[in-house]
Amino acid sequence: MKMKLLVLDLDGTLWDHEDASRLVPPFRVYGDRVVDAYGEELNLFPGVREFLEWAGERFLISIASWNLEEFVRPVLEALNLWDYFIFPKIEGHPDKAAMIERTMAELRAAGYDVDEVIYVDDRTIHVDEIMEIIPNLRFIHMWVDVGSFEELKKMLEVL
Ligand SMILES: [Mg+2]
Repeated sequence: MKMKLLVLDLDGTLWDHEDASRLVPPFRVYGDRVVDAYGEELNLFPGVREFLEWAGERFLISIASWNLEEFVRPVLEALNLWDYFIFPKIEGHPDKAAMIERTMAELRAAGYDVDEVIYVDDRTIHVDEIMEIIPNLRFIHMWVDVGSFEELKKMLEVL
């Protein structure tokens, strides 16, 4: 069965914090807000939860994030979002093409037939390289091509 892979950035895309690796546990969680040990806040953007719930039934969802997994996985777990993602990549370098390629290889090895990749990021760094390396990749520039997760859903609905 052919599947579409949806790859999401985290900082500035799913949430308002620009460097979630800086958050220090223990975390307190208030709905869509995480507050760290020093009172620093991270807020999910409106509609993220509903979007992931919707997208999870239509796409394989993964992550390509320049962050450190040991610090950021606990943030996603605190928000109860970790389980939406398959083979997520949260790594200390900005080479998202390498992250997405590895996720695709792991999916293939697990028996998934991915025929299209949709990559959503608030920044365009390395997008040209990514598109050269990964055929059938569609880039959506978050907050430029779409202004909300509701709009992102509408765009993906017609793909
Ligand atoms: Mg970002």
